[in-house]
Formats: sequence, structure tokens, C-alpha cells
Amino acid sequence: MIKKISNQFLSSYLFVFLLTTMVTTLAVVLLSFASGLIEGRLVKERYPARAIIKEDYTQIDASAVVKNGGGVQVVNKDYQVVYSEGLDTIGKSQLSAEEFTAFLMESSDQPYHYDIVYQPQGEYWLIVTFPTSIRLSFSVVHNPAAVPDDMAMASKVIAAISLIYLTILALLASGYSRFMAAQITEPLHQLSEGTRLLRAGDYSARVDLKLKNEFANLQETFNDMAARIEQEMTLRKKSENDRRRLILDISHDLKNPLASIQGYTELCMKKKDLSEQERREYLQAIYQNSHRANLLLADLFELSQMDSPQFLLKPVEIEVCEYLRQICGALIPPLEQAGFQYEFDIPEKNIPVRLDPPRFSRIFQNLTDNAVRYNRPGTVISVSLREEKADVVICFADDGCGIPNHLVEDIFKPFVRVDDARNSKTGGSGLGLAIAKKIARAHQGDLTLDIKYNNGSAFMIRIPKI
Ligand code: ADP
Repeated sequence: MIKKISNQFLSSYLFVFLLTTMVTTLAVVLLSFASGLIEGRLVKERYPARAIIKEDYTQIDASAVVKNGGGVQVVNKDYQVVYSEGLDTIGKSQLSAEEFTAFLMESSDQPYHYDIVYQPQGEYWLIVTFPTSIRLSFSVVHNPAAVPDDMAMASKVIAAISLIYLTILALLASGYSRFMAAQITEPLHQLSEGTRLLRAGDYSARVDLKLKNEFANLQETFNDMAARIEQEMTLRKKSENDRRRLILDISHDLKNPLASIQGYTELCMKKKDLSEQERREYLQAIYQNSHRANLLLADLFELSQMDSPQFLLKPVEIEVCEYLRQICGALIPPLEQAGFQYEFDIPEKNIPVRLDPPRFSRIFQNLTDNAVRYNRPGTVISVSLREEKADVVICFADDGCGIPNHLVEDIFKPFVRVDDARNSKTGGSGLGLAIAKKIARAHQGDLTLDIKYNNGSAFMIRIPKI
């Protein structure tokens, strides 16, 4: 069973509330006890009027009272102050009857303590005065002779006050416990709502608690995790779409040559009176289509091979300018044969790089095939090399028909073509640039299309220098 945090808070606050009540009761008892203790030890209690009173007031020894900061006055039956030593709060030598009565009545409210005793033989009042140092008027006394009405009234008042006190305390405790519980349950609620949304597949779910405590850390971790999952899911969706498109493209590209092969083979088998001319034509078509299918499968195999963990380059340290010169030299015959022009700009420098020569030359082979395949004779192919910080950049450009801007990124994806219909005529597998880019990346470099370079197509091959 789930224990609600707000209930746990309430029970712990009620416990604190109970403790507070107990401690308050104890404080009352202790205060009463302390009051008695202090009262009994005050100076005024040590020198009461009774202790120094004499029948003849002239015999009174006021020295101890005066020494402790007090005073002694004697008022005779005519309200005349006949003796005064030390502290004098009466301030007169003769009082009227009203004044003396007022003094006797108000004496308890003064910041002085008066102990007043009447001496019947000497017919005088002895007044011992001490300044009040501390007054603890709180005490609980048990008196069996107390008036029952007083006791009942006092009990009712105390009960009512206690009830009000307890009600206020209980209300505060429950209100505060709810408030404190909300500080925890509210962020938890929002976090669990976020988690629920995430589980339900809403990867854009984020939590904004507007807090700066430990929950903020949790929120940050949650949002970070959600962002990663979202990114991961987008990638997964994209790669799933790519995979689906790839299968569709492969089957589409294989369907045509295989259908032709099947058709021509059937013709060869079923047509009895096949002329030599027809036979040669059909076999030619079968050969061309099987060659195309084979080319596509070989390229596909190469592409998927490069994705496998077993794919390993065999890089060797090589001088890139010299290597590129050899590559360009080998390009000249096919370019000339196709009626293309060419210009090479390779510096006389010694720049070492690490590459797998046969694999890397596949990039140039694919780029040259494309340049020749998609451009008219007379097109100029230029190859140049330059250093850029830690990299070597080889530019392979033509001034032909070019590739549209919107395909700058996608043209390197498998089966992406500028003109789909052109493929059947040109005979490319649609994988040439994808393979070339993978090879460049396997060399810690890259292959990109630079649309700003010229009006034709300019491919940049980048590899790190040693
Ligand atoms: P394909 O087998 O179709 O040539 P690639 O991946 O090698 O596949 O090239 C993808 C597409 O890029 C080509 O179909 C073509 O439309 C375009 N392309 C590649 N190189 C060039 C170029 N030098 N000039 C014009 N278009 C090009």
C-alpha cells in the first residue's frame, strides 16, 4: 500500500505538536517551581519587617536592610514618619489619613516591595522597602481551602485557553504539514507526469519546476535524459526510414534488369524459329541486364561491408602529392577517350598522409565515372590540392551541368539521383557517391560537395595530414 507523503508529514507534525504540548506543560510546572525558588531567595524575604520590629521603634536596627539597598520607615498613629533610614519612597514626614491609606493600597503595584507590619504596643507601622529586582507572579498553588467557585471558574478559563491554544496549534501543524508536503509532492508529481508522458511515447516531454534545490538537479537529469531519448528516437526513426527506402530502392533497381532477363530468357526458350540476329540481340540484352544487376549487388556489398565492424582499412604512410599525380596520370586516357578536357594543379610538396591506396583511389574512380557519365564531352575536369590547417583538401571539379543546391547533403545517400529517369540510360548503381563518402570518412576525412566553387560540380576530399 502506498503511504502518501502528505499523510506522513501530517503524522510527524502531529507528533511534534504532541511533543510541544508536553514540553509546554513541563515549562509551566518548571516556571512555577522556579518562581517559588527565586521568590524564597530574594533579599526582601531575608529581611522581613517582622524580623527587625521592636516594641520601641528607636530600638530597630535597620543597618542590614540599608546595606542591602532597602529602607526602613516608621509611621505613628498620627501618620507622621517618625523614623526613616535608607531608601525612602514616601518622601514626606507627615501624611494625611487618605494618603497613608492610598499608600497601603497601591504599594503592591509599585516597582518596590513593601513589607508593612503594625506594632500594637508601640502603635506604629513599620515599613520595610526593597526595590523590586524580579517579580514572578506566575504560580500554580494547591490550596484545599480554596473557594470552589474560584476553582471552577479558573479551571474553565484554563480549559478554554488550552482548547484555543491546542486548536490553533493543530490548525497550524496541519496547514504547515500540507504546505511542506506540497514542496515535495508537487515536483514529484510533475516529474512522474513527465515520466508517464515519456513512457507513453511523447519524447518532447520536459519538466520545468522553477526550483533551485535538489529537485532542480533531478529535473535537469530528467530533461537531459528525455532530450537524449528524443534524439535517439529521431535518429532511429530516420535510420528506419532510410533502411526502408534503401530496401525499396534496391528492389526497384533490381526489378527492371531481372524482369528483362526473365523476359528475354523466356523468349529464347519459347520461340522456336529464332533467327541468329534475334538470338544475339536477346543474349546481348540478357548480358547487359545481368551485368547491371551484378554491378548493383557488388556496390551494395561494398557499401554494407564498410558498415560492418570487420571492415578494416590497410593504411600506409604515403606522400599525397605524388600519389595524386599518379592517380591523375591514370585518369588521362579515359578522359581523353570520352572527349573531356582536364587540368591538374598539384604542388611540388612533400605532404605525408596515411591512407589505404586501393580503397582511396576508388573515390577518384567513382568521381571520374560520374563526371564522364553526367556531362557532355568538352567538359573540363580539374583536380587540385591544397593544405588547410591540419588537413589536405583535394578538389575534384567539373564545369558541367552541376548538382542542385537542395541535394548538397542528400546526394551522398544511396540511390539519391538528380534525375531518376537518367539512371536507366546512364547505368549507374546510385551508390557511387555513398561509397566514396564512406571511404573518405573511414580515413578520418570527408567528401563534400562545394556548390560555391563553380557552376559545375566540385567535390572536396579532405584527409588529415600526419
Ligand atoms: P549514380 O550511380 O546514379 O551515378 P552516384 O551516387 O555516383 O550514383 O551519384 C548520384 C547522383 O549524383 C547521380 O545520379 C547524378 O545525378 C549526380 N551526379 C554525380 N556526379 C555528378 C557530376 N559530376 N555532374 C552532375 N551530376 C552528378
